[in-house]
Amino acid sequence: MDSLRTARARLKSAQRVVVLTGAGISKPSGIPTFRDAAGLWKDFDPEEYATPQAYARNPQKVWEWYAWRYKNVMQAQPNRAHALLVELEEQKGEGFLLVTQNVDGLHPRAGSKRLVELHGNIARGRCETCQERFPLPDPAHFTPPPTCPACGARGRPDVVWFGELLPPGAFERAERAFAQAEVALVIGTSAEVEPAASLGRIAHLSGAYLIEINPEPTPLTRLADCALPIGAVEGMEALLG
Ligand code: NAD
Ligand code: ZN
Repeated sequence: MDSLRTARARLKSAQRVVVLTGAGISKPSGIPTFRDAAGLWKDFDPEEYATPQAYARNPQKVWEWYAWRYKNVMQAQPNRAHALLVELEEQKGEGFLLVTQNVDGLHPRAGSKRLVELHGNIARGRCETCQERFPLPDPAHFTPPPTCPACGARGRPDVVWFGELLPPGAFERAERAFAQAEVALVIGTSAEVEPAASLGRIAHLSGAYLIEINPEPTPLTRLADCALPIGAVEGMEALLG
């Protein structure tokens, strides 16, 4: 296992840097993860909410859950780890790509631009009829379900549910970047959800220097050149600060 000093040096000198983030990076902003002890799935059964079948069975119930989460994320603020990823993007320019599994929109709100949101964004709806994507109304004035601004049909949450395909092209773009990266940084993901889980592995197999930030071990930890067993904010400060 390499030292933090090596990881900092590799990150600093690399031109092509990719980052994968999961729910753990938003935990310091007060947004619960899915699988932690205090995570969402302890109180909610995913099969009841985050599947196309659940939505077909009871769209109102699913929408109310998403509207509640939407309100929560809009009250949360991006944290120092989100901000340091914006700084890293500014340092690396074209060679940088951030891929997130999060639907909370905190990366774009922090200012990230070179960004792939693999699982969509909870602040958007998507028309069930014409597929138009649209921002949800302000949380204070939002009563689900939303109506498509283009055709008036009902919108669904613009997120990827269990058993659904990722947005067209999103994974391909991420995969290409991870296969070409010199340094890959994986932050706050349990690395259990495919296909995102395979991105760290792809980078490692393609010869990238792999850095992981996660207080708990994951399937990627043993592949990592440097694994920092600490929180996202502390980890990003240690790498860049
Ligand atoms: P996960 O809940 O499976 O795993 C979270 C990981 O974060 C764990 O490995 C945990 O050890 C780690 N962690 C906990 N505290 C941390 C901290 N302070 N700093 C860094 N890491 C920390 O999340 P996942 O791997 O992202 O997969 C969950 C799926 O659920 C994704 O598909 C995602 O779309 C969805 N989800 C999104 C959000 C969000 O948008 N914020 C929240 C929950 C779940
Ligand atoms: Zn429509």
